[in-house]
Amino acid sequence: MSYYAKPLARLIKELSRLPGIGNKSAQRLAFYILSLDKREVTDLASAILEAKENLKYCGICGNLTDQDPCILCEDKGRDEKIICVVESPKDVVAIEKTREYKGGYHVLHGAISPMDGIGPEDINIKALILRLQNSNVEEVILATNPNIEGEATAMYIAKLIKPSGIKVTRIAHGIPVGGDLDYSDEVTLVKALEGRRLL
Ligand SMILES: [Zn+2]
Repeated sequence: MSYYAKPLARLIKELSRLPGIGNKSAQRLAFYILSLDKREVTDLASAILEAKENLKYCGICGNLTDQDPCILCEDKGRDEKIICVVESPKDVVAIEKTREYKGGYHVLHGAISPMDGIGPEDINIKALILRLQNSNVEEVILATNPNIEGEATAMYIAKLIKPSGIKVTRIAHGIPVGGDLDYSDEVTLVKALEGRRLL
């Protein structure tokens, strides 16, 4: 038997699906949402729906965007000879925040993980290889996360690209091993990019 009225139980259940939100936090958020006036609740709900409906993946780099190509791919001020490969759109934000990197991106949307049944064909690798053909890209920086999956993904991509003669580099381990790129502070991330090594 639930202690909550049905709509409240449903709200708590949905909120508790969010990452990092346990049952207790979900309950706290649910009561907070209920304390808002109707207009504020409508704004919150429509922001979620609008983000979901209007965001898509950029046809070039795979980043989340509301226009295709995305603003980063369209920006003529960026260096198109260099592409930084990351696992998620969050990583693009983390690197952009450093204001040090001025090249392009390629978002994989995941990493190779045989344990979870995720193979190379399940992430955005093919589009990267196609993108590199007939391009004037001179360097690909592999900035996948410094954990087992991220390393395996970097090695796999490096092997695919190397025959083309394009320089392949891997960011330095300034980031704690097993860490997440987007949780690194900006200074660490800049050092990791600067200290990248040739693969
Ligand atoms: Zn793009």
